[in-house]
Amino acid sequence: MAPSRREFLGVILGASAAGALGTPACAQTPLAPTPACGAQSATPSQTEGPYFKPSSPERVSLLEPEMRGRRLVVSGVVRGTDCRPVPRVLLDFWQADAGGRYDNAGFHLRGHQLTDAEGRYRLETILPGVYPGRTRHIHVKAQAPGRPPLTTQLYFPGEAGNARDGIFDPALLVTLADAGDVAAARFDFVLVR
Ligand code: FE
Repeated sequence: MAPSRREFLGVILGASAAGALGTPACAQTPLAPTPACGAQSATPSQTEGPYFKPSSPERVSLLEPEMRGRRLVVSGVVRGTDCRPVPRVLLDFWQADAGGRYDNAGFHLRGHQLTDAEGRYRLETILPGVYPGRTRHIHVKAQAPGRPPLTTQLYFPGEAGNARDGIFDPALLVTLADAGDVAAARFDFVLVR
């Protein structure tokens, strides 16, 4: 039986109403609440490896004249699991040079710094080279005042070696943006508070 005019209009209006609702559905769907920072898990720890040296110089730039390698800036914030930024966290970085070698005699590509009042840090360096058995990584110890250090490593997205590295943890991937000559990496640490 053919639909009455009212039913027919109802179908049309219903369809158009559904269409009107359907098109901007994403705009009408309430956004998921931003996860509480406290719900974030703490940055995982990793092995220190064989090349840590204590007493690195305090410096935000590990760059030196004639240093080979792609320029890299790593920056971010250190927060506690209580959400609050943590000032004066000692961040001690060490890494391989562009050829995959650590300086075990001196302090090339080693340095520490303190987070500022907002928990921020910024490291100027080069993209570390790879060495046999490991994917590309930077080592770091993060120590809040009066707390034991977190020893961990940072990794880079898009590295073929990540899948072959038994130590690699995707929770430790930086986010990477290319800014011309300099690769800009972002990583926010979360320390147990
Ligand atoms: Fe290493």
